[in-house]
Amino acid sequence: MNKYEVLKKYFGYDSFREGQEVLIDSILKGQDTLGIMPTGAGKSICYQIPALVMQGITIVISPLISLMKDQVGALNQAGIHAAYLNSSLTYNQYCLALSYARQGRYKIIYVAPERLTTDEFLSFALEADISMISIDEAHCVSQWGQDFRPSYLKVVEFIDQLARRPVVSAFTATATIEVQEDIIKILKLRNPQLLITGFDRKNLSYQVVKPNDKYEYVRNYVSTNLDKSGIIYCLTRKTVEEVSERLQREGVQVTRYHAGLSDNERIQNQDDFIYDTKPVMVATNAFGMGIDKSNVSYVIHYNMPKNIESYYQEAGRAGRDGEPAECILLFNGQDVIMNQFLIDQNRDNEALDYATQELVNRRDRQRLKQMTFYCTTTDCLREYVLQYFGEKGDPYCGNCSNCLTQFETMDITKPAKAIVTCVKECRERFGITVILDTVHGSKNAKIQQYRMDENSQFASITDTTVARLRQIINHLIHREYLVLSDSQYPVVMLGELAGEILEATEPIWMKIAAEEEKKPSKQA
Ligand code: ADP
Ligand code: ZN
Repeated sequence: MNKYEVLKKYFGYDSFREGQEVLIDSILKGQDTLGIMPTGAGKSICYQIPALVMQGITIVISPLISLMKDQVGALNQAGIHAAYLNSSLTYNQYCLALSYARQGRYKIIYVAPERLTTDEFLSFALEADISMISIDEAHCVSQWGQDFRPSYLKVVEFIDQLARRPVVSAFTATATIEVQEDIIKILKLRNPQLLITGFDRKNLSYQVVKPNDKYEYVRNYVSTNLDKSGIIYCLTRKTVEEVSERLQREGVQVTRYHAGLSDNERIQNQDDFIYDTKPVMVATNAFGMGIDKSNVSYVIHYNMPKNIESYYQEAGRAGRDGEPAECILLFNGQDVIMNQFLIDQNRDNEALDYATQELVNRRDRQRLKQMTFYCTTTDCLREYVLQYFGEKGDPYCGNCSNCLTQFETMDITKPAKAIVTCVKECRERFGITVILDTVHGSKNAKIQQYRMDENSQFASITDTTVARLRQIINHLIHREYLVLSDSQYPVVMLGELAGEILEATEPIWMKIAAEEEKKPSKQA
């Protein structure tokens, strides 16, 4: 049977979705393959179809028992012989399944990574005709990834022991460039076909808003969208309680969800939301996994999440029905500090040794930085996210708060030179606030204590507001003229490109939002 016949006969579909065919063809050609597609895009058939077209057995490595059960159940129902081998089986069941596997009864076998290198499994694998090893949730091999699993390192160990190397395919939904490189390197993929696709959700509009009063923004938004269903994500349980209580007092049909509630209340509240008894859900990130509600019209983030992966996943719960939906992130500087605190608290992960913990902590900080840039950039937000995941975006999407804002360019040559000179002169010892206060000429206690009033740049830029100076310094960091250290209290350091600012003979430009009164009215 060819791939089209398999698609129709076993899965009941007439055509492939974006990307599927490229991945299937590459596997069938015998080329290692790495497929990166968001959840729900249809990764499974990308290895299941080649598994059925090829001679021999396919081994699928998957980290979650529940996932394996679902997949194997669905395959068997479709008439495909499949089995799983994991810790949910008793020893007898396990031995029975292996003996069936030896008899060649299964076309596809799902295995937990920690089983691969056991004697029983190896003795089976060494004699079996294995045509493909497919690794699901492949980001688990990377310490950069959301959930690193040391047992995934056994996959390579296992492949290396086989007499004949089968084609290797790997799949994941979240992979930054670092994770992609890690997957290829650690799994030793050979000249792999890499395909990243399907991240763009065209019906979602992305907005970053910096309201003076976040609650007031939400109250106003919710009360003008009472006919719609939405999720409001907050960083802490306390904020969930506060926001949901205040909305309730306003008469909004609102419910809440976080890990501190009883099981019963969580189930009840989730149902109230799903069945639209209470169309507004205020929740921590504990809410949403496995919840399939198609008519969510907006997702508001009351606080900035810790990284783009989380943000995209949570925001992506809007507009599953394909209707236009809004993803709004309410940002203020406090969110950055709060997330930094949470990342540092998260250090004591007992599964990891000290060096790995440090590495993870540094990477978490870096991802937080990239999330923060999302909130401060003036470039297209959609393109920023697509690039983050390695997919090509268009520099203008026309449907995000930056593309829809009228910007003007501002000559920042003078303040940029002052800031960089100030950082250089104080030998990269201070954070953003001290630098800005120096340049702006605030003679507060800290400035005097650090003797920054003696810096040559002290009070050199008094005609620009501190808020604007903050935008400028963020811009300089974003463009890598300056660098923020990864330490607990980040200090501003010179970036590799700092010299370009100091020696600039041409004006340096920055995009800023046009003043309110200059904005064209909507009718125009
Ligand atoms: P992922 O593993 O990427 O999260 P799945 O493999 O579970 O996604 O697929 C998501 C859904 O899309 C499943 O219900 C699957 O049957 C369906 N699907 C996959 N490929 C196609 C296709 N070519 N046409 C229609 N539906 C598809
Ligand atoms: Zn855009």
